[in-house]
Amino acid sequence: MKNIIIFGAPGSGKGTYSAAIVERFGMGHISTGDVLRGEIKQGTELGKIAKDYIDKGQLIPDQLMIDILALHYDSHPTEKGVIFDGFPRTIPQAEALKQMLAQRGHDLGMMIELVVDQDTLMKRLLRRAVEEGRADDNEETIRKRFEVYHSQTEPLSLWFAAQGIRHTFDWSICKTKEGMIEAIFREIERENGIKS
Ligand code: AMP
Repeated sequence: MKNIIIFGAPGSGKGTYSAAIVERFGMGHISTGDVLRGEIKQGTELGKIAKDYIDKGQLIPDQLMIDILALHYDSHPTEKGVIFDGFPRTIPQAEALKQMLAQRGHDLGMMIELVVDQDTLMKRLLRRAVEEGRADDNEETIRKRFEVYHSQTEPLSLWFAAQGIRHTFDWSICKTKEGMIEAIFREIERENGIKS
Protein backbone atom coordinates (compact mmCIF):
# COMPACT_ATOMS: atom_id res chain seq x y z
CA MET A 1 0.00 0.00 0.00
CA LYS A 2 1.10 3.53 -0.76
CA ASN A 3 1.73 5.83 2.18
CA ILE A 4 -1.06 8.33 2.85
CA ILE A 5 -0.80 11.88 4.11
CA ILE A 6 -4.14 12.99 5.47
CA PHE A 7 -4.46 16.74 5.29
CA GLY A 8 -7.06 19.31 6.35
CA ALA A 9 -8.03 22.05 8.80
CA PRO A 10 -8.61 21.38 12.51
CA GLY A 11 -11.94 19.55 12.74
CA SER A 12 -11.91 18.33 9.12
CA GLY A 13 -12.00 14.69 10.26
CA LYS A 14 -8.36 13.59 9.85
CA GLY A 15 -8.55 11.32 12.89
CA THR A 16 -11.92 9.84 11.95
CA TYR A 17 -10.99 9.02 8.35
CA SER A 18 -7.55 7.75 9.37
CA ALA A 19 -9.20 5.28 11.74
CA ALA A 20 -11.55 4.10 8.97
CA ILE A 21 -8.62 3.65 6.56
CA VAL A 22 -6.60 1.72 9.16
CA GLU A 23 -9.53 -0.60 9.80
CA ARG A 24 -10.16 -1.21 6.09
CA PHE A 25 -6.58 -1.52 4.80
CA GLY A 26 -4.56 -2.42 7.90
CA MET A 27 -2.03 0.36 7.46
CA GLY A 28 0.17 1.90 10.15
CA HIS A 29 -0.96 5.22 11.63
CA ILE A 30 1.10 8.07 13.05
CA SER A 31 -0.86 11.00 14.50
CA THR A 32 1.57 13.68 15.67
CA GLY A 33 -1.20 15.28 17.78
CA ASP A 34 -1.79 11.95 19.58
CA VAL A 35 1.97 11.46 20.05
CA LEU A 36 2.27 14.90 21.66
CA ARG A 37 -0.81 14.45 23.85
CA GLY A 38 0.66 11.11 25.00
CA GLU A 39 3.93 12.83 25.96
CA ILE A 40 2.01 15.49 27.90
CA LYS A 41 0.02 12.83 29.75
CA GLN A 42 3.23 11.04 30.73
CA GLY A 43 4.76 14.33 31.89
CA THR A 44 7.95 13.96 29.79
CA GLU A 45 10.33 16.82 28.94
CA LEU A 46 9.00 16.82 25.40
CA GLY A 47 5.44 16.89 26.77
CA LYS A 48 6.24 19.99 28.81
CA ILE A 49 7.62 21.80 25.76
CA ALA A 50 4.72 20.66 23.55
CA LYS A 51 2.04 21.72 26.04
CA ASP A 52 3.07 25.38 25.85
CA TYR A 53 2.63 25.44 22.09
CA ILE A 54 -0.52 23.33 21.96
CA ASP A 55 -2.32 25.38 24.61
CA LYS A 56 -1.62 28.52 22.58
CA GLY A 57 -2.79 26.91 19.34
CA GLN A 58 0.73 27.27 17.89
CA LEU A 59 2.82 24.75 15.99
CA ILE A 60 5.72 22.90 17.62
CA PRO A 61 9.00 24.05 15.96
CA ASP A 62 9.76 22.21 12.73
CA GLN A 63 13.06 20.57 13.66
CA LEU A 64 11.69 19.12 16.90
CA MET A 65 8.62 17.80 15.09
CA ILE A 66 10.70 16.31 12.27
CA ASP A 67 12.92 14.44 14.78
CA ILE A 68 9.86 13.10 16.64
CA LEU A 69 8.30 11.94 13.38
CA ALA A 70 11.43 10.10 12.22
CA LEU A 71 11.70 8.34 15.58
CA HIS A 72 8.10 7.12 15.36
CA TYR A 73 8.36 6.14 11.72
CA ASP A 74 11.38 3.99 12.43
CA SER A 75 9.64 2.18 15.24
CA HIS A 76 6.56 1.47 13.10
CA PRO A 77 5.85 -1.48 10.83
CA THR A 78 5.85 0.14 7.38
CA GLU A 79 5.28 -2.77 5.00
CA LYS A 80 1.55 -2.04 4.64
CA GLY A 81 2.17 1.69 4.33
CA VAL A 82 1.67 4.40 6.93
CA ILE A 83 -0.93 7.15 7.32
CA PHE A 84 0.59 10.44 8.40
CA ASP A 85 -2.10 12.31 10.32
CA GLY A 86 -1.32 15.90 11.31
CA PHE A 87 2.11 15.86 9.67
CA PRO A 88 3.43 17.66 7.66
CA ARG A 89 1.95 21.04 8.63
CA THR A 90 4.58 23.31 7.05
CA ILE A 91 6.59 23.25 3.84
CA PRO A 92 9.90 22.50 5.66
CA GLN A 93 8.18 19.52 7.36
CA ALA A 94 6.93 18.28 3.97
CA GLU A 95 10.38 18.55 2.45
CA ALA A 96 11.92 16.78 5.44
CA LEU A 97 9.32 13.99 5.20
CA LYS A 98 10.00 13.49 1.51
CA GLN A 99 13.73 13.29 2.20
CA MET A 100 13.35 11.00 5.21
CA LEU A 101 11.21 8.58 3.21
CA ALA A 102 13.58 8.69 0.21
CA GLN A 103 16.52 7.83 2.50
CA ARG A 104 14.60 4.69 3.49
CA GLY A 105 13.67 3.82 -0.10
CA HIS A 106 10.04 4.89 0.38
CA ASP A 107 7.99 7.74 -1.03
CA LEU A 108 5.21 10.13 -0.07
CA GLY A 109 2.50 8.01 -1.67
CA MET A 110 -0.76 9.94 -1.89
CA MET A 111 -2.10 12.99 -0.13
CA ILE A 112 -5.77 13.04 0.86
CA GLU A 113 -7.11 16.53 1.35
CA LEU A 114 -10.32 17.07 3.35
CA VAL A 115 -12.17 20.27 2.45
CA VAL A 116 -14.82 21.42 4.94
CA ASP A 117 -16.44 24.86 5.29
CA GLN A 118 -15.48 27.04 8.24
CA ASP A 119 -18.90 26.97 9.98
CA THR A 120 -19.01 23.18 10.03
CA LEU A 121 -15.42 23.04 11.34
CA MET A 122 -16.18 25.40 14.21
CA LYS A 123 -19.35 23.50 15.18
CA ARG A 124 -17.50 20.17 15.17
CA LEU A 125 -14.63 21.48 17.28
CA LEU A 126 -16.93 23.04 19.86
CA ARG A 127 -18.86 19.75 20.05
CA ARG A 128 -15.59 17.83 20.44
CA ALA A 129 -14.65 20.20 23.28
CA VAL A 130 -17.69 18.99 25.19
CA GLU A 131 -17.39 15.31 24.22
CA GLU A 132 -13.62 14.76 24.53
CA GLY A 133 -12.53 17.66 26.72
CA ARG A 134 -9.44 18.46 24.64
CA ALA A 135 -7.68 21.43 26.25
CA ASP A 136 -7.06 23.15 22.90
CA ASP A 137 -10.71 22.90 21.79
CA ASN A 138 -11.84 26.20 23.29
CA GLU A 139 -13.05 29.03 21.11
CA GLU A 140 -9.99 31.26 21.51
CA THR A 141 -7.47 28.49 20.80
CA ILE A 142 -9.59 27.17 17.94
CA ARG A 143 -9.47 30.61 16.27
CA LYS A 144 -5.69 30.70 16.67
CA ARG A 145 -5.39 27.18 15.19
CA PHE A 146 -7.45 28.24 12.16
CA GLU A 147 -5.21 31.28 11.71
CA VAL A 148 -2.09 29.10 11.90
CA TYR A 149 -3.68 26.61 9.52
CA HIS A 150 -4.47 29.27 6.91
CA SER A 151 -1.07 30.97 7.11
CA GLN A 152 1.32 28.02 7.58
CA THR A 153 -0.39 24.78 6.59
CA GLU A 154 -2.86 25.53 3.80
CA PRO A 155 -0.12 26.66 1.35
CA LEU A 156 1.17 23.08 1.53
CA SER A 157 -1.85 21.96 -0.45
CA LEU A 158 -0.24 23.48 -3.55
CA TRP A 159 3.08 21.85 -2.68
CA PHE A 160 1.35 18.45 -2.80
CA ALA A 161 -0.46 19.37 -6.00
CA ALA A 162 2.93 20.16 -7.53
CA GLN A 163 4.16 16.70 -6.47
CA GLY A 164 1.18 15.32 -8.43
CA ILE A 165 -0.20 13.40 -5.44
CA ARG A 166 -3.08 15.57 -4.17
CA HIS A 167 -6.55 13.97 -3.99
CA THR A 168 -9.25 16.30 -2.70
CA PHE A 169 -12.52 15.28 -1.01
CA ASP A 170 -15.11 17.95 -0.39
CA TRP A 171 -17.65 17.67 2.42
CA SER A 172 -20.13 19.84 0.48
CA ILE A 173 -20.12 17.22 -2.31
CA CYS A 174 -20.00 13.99 -0.25
CA LYS A 175 -22.35 15.42 2.41
CA THR A 176 -22.07 12.56 4.92
CA LYS A 177 -19.28 10.77 6.75
CA GLU A 178 -20.23 7.55 4.96
CA GLY A 179 -20.13 9.34 1.60
CA MET A 180 -16.66 10.70 2.35
CA ILE A 181 -15.38 7.29 3.48
CA GLU A 182 -16.77 5.60 0.39
CA ALA A 183 -15.12 8.14 -1.94
CA ILE A 184 -11.80 7.96 -0.08
CA PHE A 185 -11.75 4.14 -0.08
CA ARG A 186 -12.46 4.03 -3.82
CA GLU A 187 -9.60 6.43 -4.54
CA ILE A 188 -7.15 4.49 -2.33
CA GLU A 189 -8.10 1.27 -4.10
CA ARG A 190 -7.68 2.91 -7.50
CA GLU A 191 -4.24 4.27 -6.57
CA ASN A 192 -3.11 0.87 -5.33
CA GLY A 193 -4.64 -1.10 -8.21
CA ILE A 194 -7.02 -2.90 -5.83
CA LYS A 195 -10.27 -4.10 -7.42
CA SER A 196 -13.29 -3.46 -5.17
P1 AMP B 1 -3.85 17.76 16.08
O1 AMP B 1 -4.31 16.71 17.03
O2 AMP B 1 -3.26 17.18 14.82
O3 AMP B 1 -4.91 18.80 15.79
O4 AMP B 1 -2.64 18.52 16.80
C1 AMP B 1 -2.83 19.25 18.01
C2 AMP B 1 -1.70 20.25 18.20
O5 AMP B 1 -0.44 19.56 18.25
C3 AMP B 1 -1.53 21.28 17.09
O6 AMP B 1 -2.40 22.40 17.25
C4 AMP B 1 -0.05 21.66 17.27
O7 AMP B 1 0.13 22.52 18.37
C5 AMP B 1 0.58 20.33 17.63
N1 AMP B 1 1.04 19.60 16.42
C6 AMP B 1 0.57 18.40 15.94
N2 AMP B 1 1.20 18.04 14.80
C7 AMP B 1 2.10 19.03 14.55
C8 AMP B 1 3.03 19.27 13.51
N3 AMP B 1 3.17 18.41 12.47
N4 AMP B 1 3.80 20.39 13.57
C9 AMP B 1 3.69 21.25 14.59
N5 AMP B 1 2.80 21.11 15.59
C10 AMP B 1 2.00 20.01 15.58
